[in-house]
Amino acid sequence: MLLRIIYNRMTRAALCVGGSHRLSSALHKTVVAAGGEIRDTAEVVRIRLADQRAAGVVLQDGTEIDARAVVSTVDPKQTFLSFFSEKEIPADLVKRANQWQWEKITFFGVHAALKQAPQYRAADAGHDLQKAMITFLGLSSTEQLLDHLRQLENGRLPENPIGHATCTSLFDPISAFKGHYTGRWECLAPFDANWEAIQKDYAAACIKSWKSWAPNLEPLFTLSYPPSYIEKKIKNMVKGSFKHGDYTPLQMGYFRPSESCSQVFTPIDGLYVCGASTYPGGMILGGGGYIGANVIAEDFGVAKTWKEPEFVTSARQAGVIA
Ligand SMILES: Cc1cc2nc3c(=O)[nH]c(=O)nc-3n(C[C@H](O)[C@H](O)[C@H](O)COP(=O)(O)OP(=O)(O)OC[C@H]3O[C@@H](n4cnc5c(N)ncnc54)[C@H](O)[C@@H]3O)c2cc1C
Repeated sequence: MLLRIIYNRMTRAALCVGGSHRLSSALHKTVVAAGGEIRDTAEVVRIRLADQRAAGVVLQDGTEIDARAVVSTVDPKQTFLSFFSEKEIPADLVKRANQWQWEKITFFGVHAALKQAPQYRAADAGHDLQKAMITFLGLSSTEQLLDHLRQLENGRLPENPIGHATCTSLFDPISAFKGHYTGRWECLAPFDANWEAIQKDYAAACIKSWKSWAPNLEPLFTLSYPPSYIEKKIKNMVKGSFKHGDYTPLQMGYFRPSESCSQVFTPIDGLYVCGASTYPGGMILGGGGYIGANVIAEDFGVAKTWKEPEFVTSARQAGVIA
């Protein structure tokens, strides 16, 4: 399954035109158009039980919301350890949530306003580099890649950043002032570093690395996005864990997030889970939410307001999925 996702990512790179907030805005509109309501800045602190069934949530400001179903898309530590007290739920849920491991490696990103679109030296050799959406920079051998990953897994910040770059405004001109360009660098990084102190220097090292491949690179302005910001902004991405939890044998497929919760249902009636910490995993796949919506609609006998996507139908017809 993971191999298929990786292959899909390699061959079908995509950028959300207008910025990634457009995707969440589109989802927001779809929910509202279907009669739903979305509450922003409303932190859930508890899931309320009534007669052993999930019966609603309690927000941080004390507001209580009653519900026939509670669907959690956040990590299992929050869902089972924070939203319930230990004695309220089966012991194995508590045990598996306690065992949940975050990713060891996260992201460091630099966004830049550019005078010119980067011109890669290697493009002189006749490659289509100027047209590429994602350009990987700094890797020349498998051994170097493995060494790089080992350093990161051991919590060491590579001195010479290896990453990927995109000149975003080539694909989405609205993201830059006329006559200018925007670019984005992203690389893997460990969470545990004094990011507040080093982020500027590390951003400069990333730009230096990028410039060594594209000598005309001239940032007018940069904004870096260190791992510590990820956790601050998105509570469930603990330690910058952008997939809501590591991909280890016991946290993948049928075991994600645990054997009793990997098919949307949980041992607690009325409580469902989906999102990146469930099968098929993290990234902007929409898979967890799509599977969850189908299962819950069927469980409640409500009509689905969506159609099966064409690629799911053709995968089914080709026998790739059941
Ligand atoms: C810097 C960065 C770059 C990335 N780049 C890519 C990429 O290029 N391609 C890709 O496919 N994926 C990328 N990802 C990963 C991708 O964004 C995630 O895997 C994906 O967003 C997970 O979706 P989700 O809906 O399961 O959870 P999330 O998007 O994490 O949504 C969960 C929501 O729940 C909210 N929440 C948390 N706790 C509570 C609470 N107690 N009460 C109420 N709300 C709560 C959070 O604020 C959040 O809005 C990136 C992630 C990061 C951080």
